[in-house]
Amino acid sequence: MKKITKAVVPAALALSMIASSTALADPQSKPNGPYIENEQNISLSSYMSNEELYQTLQKLEASSNGKMKLEIAGYSNQSPDGYQTEEDKGEPLYVVKFGEADPNKKSVLITTQIHGNEQIGTEAAVDIIQKLSSNSKEVNEMLDKVSIWIMPRINPEGADNQYEGKWYPTRYTHQTWLPENIDLPEGTTAPWYYNSDGSERAQNNNGRVVYGIPGYDQNRDYNPNLDFRVEDQDKDVVEAFLNDRATNNSNFGGFYVTAEARTVTSVFQELQPDVYVDVHHRGFNTVSDEDNRSVPIQLAAVVADPYTDPFTGQQYEVDEDVLKLGKQVNALAAQTLQRGFSHFGAIQKYPDVNLPGTALGAFALNDAAIMLMEIKGQSQTLGQKQAGMLKETVKAPLYDLFNALADESINDVDPAVYDAIPESTNRITDPSTRDTEKDF
Ligand SMILES: [Zn+2]
Repeated sequence: MKKITKAVVPAALALSMIASSTALADPQSKPNGPYIENEQNISLSSYMSNEELYQTLQKLEASSNGKMKLEIAGYSNQSPDGYQTEEDKGEPLYVVKFGEADPNKKSVLITTQIHGNEQIGTEAAVDIIQKLSSNSKEVNEMLDKVSIWIMPRINPEGADNQYEGKWYPTRYTHQTWLPENIDLPEGTTAPWYYNSDGSERAQNNNGRVVYGIPGYDQNRDYNPNLDFRVEDQDKDVVEAFLNDRATNNSNFGGFYVTAEARTVTSVFQELQPDVYVDVHHRGFNTVSDEDNRSVPIQLAAVVADPYTDPFTGQQYEVDEDVLKLGKQVNALAAQTLQRGFSHFGAIQKYPDVNLPGTALGAFALNDAAIMLMEIKGQSQTLGQKQAGMLKETVKAPLYDLFNALADESINDVDPAVYDAIPESTNRITDPSTRDTEKDF
């Protein structure tokens, strides 16, 4: 980690802060503050279930006159240690393709909902797919120059999680760590991003809920060595690596134990995109002490430092041209959002992190310019509140990106615009949980 921006609050102090929050009338404790009250209801009914998403994608493909190709790239939970089998597959992981993998064309890969409780990206992706599959002349001319592949909802298990008979989207995948299934000794420590008890921040911010299905944070399971597979490694080395806290941590790439991360990576390798975009949700910030507008989005073009693979010694770093393009892509997004409407323009840069096990980190180290889009709020905080505005915050920069790649005007964007995006500050802490805030 280069820098840790979040304050670590000791538990006792955190409790006393919560007890006094009403007396202090912190903005976040007001009924209409960004964090909803414990007893306020969260509504998710406008969001698509897995089944609704799949049906929508199939309809769009059918009406696209062959322009859109809908393929199943893989299924959730088919890892060697997975608790499902070939006969008992998880959910399909769809890839929507506009254009082929063609080195003579620019290409973009977009993924959404790597964390199952982060829905807006998927809702926005479906709108984008609808627009791209239409027969507009402008869109067709753009698609002649740019191939766009979209994987909406790459964590369908977390997205569709149920708890006590209720739809309860969670960050994590569904999968059990069974080391003996991949020829590691029973008792080998799980990768550090394993959620063994299946617990998650509660809806309505009401503490923590144990829904009881173990799983992984998929966005730590990627590795700059895109071909890393536990089954190909010396098992003694992997066992020692996992059993040592000095190595089993976020400074290193993940273990590709989830079928989801493997599937997304295979699509990345097939397309070898110029630009990779991953859409997330996060917490709440205001712009500054002087400007109390709520920040709808944070952006980042860099999320991983140069990396040396501890297993092979191979070195990875982000190429200079790739970094420049990444900054241009994010700078263009910043310019798009600052055009015209005031609250869209209240953007910040995502805090500085080094996470080689994220999809963005691993892919940036493999020649893709990246854009992290972090929309405010999650299904446990905002529910579907402000969904329309937040969807636009995702869509508008992406449409401009497609066109700028097609007419090559992306090359004229000044990367310094990215450097000048205000840093993340003025985080509004959640008054009602002691939950550690997660990175993207
Ligand atoms: Zn996320």
